[in-house]
Amino acid sequence: MPDRFYDVVVVGGGNAALCAAITAQRGGADVLLLEAAPEALRGGNSRHTRDIRYMHDRAGAFVTGAYTAEEFWEDLQRVTGGETDEALARLTISESADLGDWMPAHGVRWQQPLKGTLHLARTNVFFLGGGKAMVNAYYDTARKQGVEILYEAEVQRLNVDDGVFRSAVVARGGASGEVRAKAVVVASGGFEANIPWLKEYWGEAADHFVIRGTPYNQGRLLKELLAHGARPVGNPREFHAVAVDARAPKFDGGIVTRLDSVPFGIVVNREASRFYDEGEDFWPKRYAIWGGLIARQPGQIAYSIVDARGAGRFMPSVFPPLQAGSLTDLAGLLGLDARALVATVEAFNRAVRPGSFDPSRLDDCRTEGLEPPKSHWALPVDQPPFWAYPLRPGITFTYLGVTVNRQAQVVLRDGRPAPNLFAAGEVMAGNILGRGYLAGFGLTIGTVFGRIAGREAARHAVG
Ligand SMILES: Cc1cc2nc3c(=O)[nH]c(=O)nc-3n(C[C@H](O)[C@H](O)[C@H](O)COP(=O)(O)OP(=O)(O)OC[C@H]3O[C@@H](n4cnc5c(N)ncnc54)[C@H](O)[C@@H]3O)c2cc1C
Repeated sequence: MPDRFYDVVVVGGGNAALCAAITAQRGGADVLLLEAAPEALRGGNSRHTRDIRYMHDRAGAFVTGAYTAEEFWEDLQRVTGGETDEALARLTISESADLGDWMPAHGVRWQQPLKGTLHLARTNVFFLGGGKAMVNAYYDTARKQGVEILYEAEVQRLNVDDGVFRSAVVARGGASGEVRAKAVVVASGGFEANIPWLKEYWGEAADHFVIRGTPYNQGRLLKELLAHGARPVGNPREFHAVAVDARAPKFDGGIVTRLDSVPFGIVVNREASRFYDEGEDFWPKRYAIWGGLIARQPGQIAYSIVDARGAGRFMPSVFPPLQAGSLTDLAGLLGLDARALVATVEAFNRAVRPGSFDPSRLDDCRTEGLEPPKSHWALPVDQPPFWAYPLRPGITFTYLGVTVNRQAQVVLRDGRPAPNLFAAGEVMAGNILGRGYLAGFGLTIGTVFGRIAGREAARHAVG
């Protein structure tokens, strides 16, 4: 362990940590960044990302139109249902205005907006090479600037006296040591990879969750901060989750394991019963709710079933569909009761009313007299071959975090800000995104608060 007294130590190795480290170093501080993952797996969940949302007053080379502060704020209010700290949210929005320039100035390159189901070409910018390239660019910038970086360096404890940070206890290479600094920025993500912690709220069901991102986000530092008196924010039971292929790896499957077949057929649980309206709404609602819905089904498993009409209408899957010439054979492949599956599909088919099918709008193809209904894009499931995808809840991130102020200082339960203890990224995102999701906003929060935390930590350390 380096035997030095640093100005600023940054815990974490994703977007928020890197933005904090780069900014603190620019502010004249001597910075050490501690990343729990090995170098090849550095970058946390940030390396799985593709795009970032930011406010801008006009179209540009990589965005198709303006996205004003007021529209951004309205979108945020809508998805959170008001569960947001307005002052911090408005700060995030206004401070996002220069991201289109700041990120390329630190090595990130943009690409033309993606087409398809995302509809983000106006509000979000996409990175060339995805999140991995973005994270690599930031590591390169940080290293060239003189930030010291240690991999496989897991911070296990923070020594904090009455809200004042003293040192971090770090495990590395089988040994444990203490790193002292004038200020710390905690940017170590949520606790979504900590299955025992998830079990406190979800019981044994959590064993069946697939974690879309890094296994290193164990929430260890979140727990530390809470134990040192940080005021919690966000519902500990809640998470953002989408439906992923049940054959996905337990961790780090990233975006490609998500399945987009749901609106083009029906979804049944292991009793072969439908349990929710597959045609309720467009993205993002139709993706982001299915993880939570499946988490509440028996065995946390569901099956998306489409027939020849639905096949090919959605983004190709990484894992091939299970395929059969009849529903009875498909049930056999899935281990479902064949009679129950046939009965569910027949009841669905009888309830489908004629309409003009149009996946680009909320069309008039719907069921009648069926519970739950399918409100749009309902076509009979009767054309072989039949396809099925097994689905699991794919957890993206958790909402529990610590309260911060406008300087990104951690706020204690008695309302005092901790003078030299800062937080950025997913570990404090619950202040702004209390629930719901706005695509590309996780990185906005991390970039804005990473930079604020870095700036303020440097100011505290070197004046
Ligand atoms: C599949 C997927 C796709 C996504 N796509 C997008 C997108 O396109 N746009 C968007 O805005 N958001 C997206 N998100 C959400 C986004 O990833 C997060 O909001 C964002 O990356 C959070 O950044 P962060 O720096 O707070 O955390 P992370 O990037 O997760 O970084 C946390 C870091 O802390 C390290 N760490 C954890 N514990 C310790 C410890 N004790 N000691 C030392 N280090 C530790 C981890 O190794 C990791 O490097 C996506 C998430 C997933 C899973």
